[in-house]
Amino acid sequence: MMSTANYIRSDIQQMKAYAVADVPAGFIKLDAMESPYDYPEDMKKELGRALAAAPIRLYPNPGSCGLLQVLRDTYAIPADASLVLGNGSDELIERLTMLVSKPGAKVLAPAPSFVMYRVNAEFFGLEFIGVPLRPDFTMDLDAMLAAIKEHQPALVFVAYPNNPTGGRFAREKVEAIIAATPGIVVVDEAYGAFSSDSFLSQAGQIPNLVVLRTLSKIGFAGLRIGYACGPAAILDELKKIIPPYNMNQLSLCAAEFALQYQPFINENISRLKGERERMRTALHAHPCIQDFPSEANFLTLRVPDAQALFDKLYAQNILIKKLHGMHPLLDQCVRITIGLPEQNQKVLNIIDELYGNP
Ligand code: PMP
Repeated sequence: MMSTANYIRSDIQQMKAYAVADVPAGFIKLDAMESPYDYPEDMKKELGRALAAAPIRLYPNPGSCGLLQVLRDTYAIPADASLVLGNGSDELIERLTMLVSKPGAKVLAPAPSFVMYRVNAEFFGLEFIGVPLRPDFTMDLDAMLAAIKEHQPALVFVAYPNNPTGGRFAREKVEAIIAATPGIVVVDEAYGAFSSDSFLSQAGQIPNLVVLRTLSKIGFAGLRIGYACGPAAILDELKKIIPPYNMNQLSLCAAEFALQYQPFINENISRLKGERERMRTALHAHPCIQDFPSEANFLTLRVPDAQALFDKLYAQNILIKKLHGMHPLLDQCVRITIGLPEQNQKVLNIIDELYGNP
C-alpha cells in the first residue's frame, strides 16, 4: 500500500514548520515582538462585557463589521484605498502571494527580511529572489533595481521597518522600487507604529502599492488581525481568494473594543520607543557589541557569541531570538524585543555580566 507521504508534495516534506518557541512558565518573552503591556483590570472587565455581546452564533462578516471603519478613522486610511482584513498579516502575505502565483512568476525582497516572504513563495512554487542588504543592513538600491530589471518580479515585499534587522530603509529607495517594479509592491508596515515614516497615506493612490499593517505589535498579537490597504484593482481580486469567514467574531469584536483605547496604546508605544533608545545607548557603550539603528520594537545586535548570550539569558528565564545561522549577514546576531523597563534592565545587567561593565 502506498504511504500518504507519496501523495504529499515532497518539497513540503522537506520544509521545516515555522518555529514557535515553547516558553516555560515564568519566562520573560523577548523573542517575538509582542507588547509587554497587559490591559488594566477595568479595561479587561469591559472587554469581557463587549465579548459577551458578540454574536458568536453567527458567522463573522469582516466586510461590514465596525472594525473596518474604526481602522479607517484611527489610522487615517485614505478614503480611496480599499481595506481587507486578514487573520494576521501572515494570512495576507500568503494570499497576496497566491494572487500572483502563475507559473514562472517571481517574488523578490531584500534579504534578510521576514522569512514568510520566501516561505510563501515556495508554498506556491514561485522563485524567490532575496537581494542582500549591505553589511550595515541598509538597502542596496542598485542591487534591488538591477534584480527587479532582470527578474521582472510579480511581487516585491519591503518590510518598512525591516524584520529582523530593525532599521527603516530610506523612503526614496522604497519609492524607487515601487516605480521600477512591474508587479505589486507590498510595503509591510508590521512595525509601522514604532517608525518615523509610513506609506499608509499613499495607499490607494499608487496603482501597484499595497500597504500591510497589523495589530500584533501594538498589544494584540493574540487577536490575529492584519489589514491590507491599497487600490481596489488589487484588493478586489484579493477578496476573491480570502477564505469565507476568515476572521474570528471574537477577534473582530475585541479589536474594535481595544482600538478605542488610543491613549493607552499610544502611551505604550512611546514608552517602548523610549526604552529602545535607552537600551541602544547602553549597549552602544560595549565595544564588543555592534548595535544597529531600529525603528521597530526590537533591537538587533551583533555580539561576540550569539549562542552564549542566548544561553546566558535563557538560564535566567529570558527568551530572545538567535538570528545567527538564518542568513550570512546575520553572523552572531541576536534580536531582542523591547520589554518592560525592569525586564530590559535585567537584560542589560546580564549583558554587563557577560561582557564587562563598560
Ligand atoms: N510582517 C513582518 C515584517 C513581521 O515581522 C511579522 C511578524 N513576525 C508579520 C508580518 C506577521 O504579523 P502578524 O501575522 O502577527 O500580523
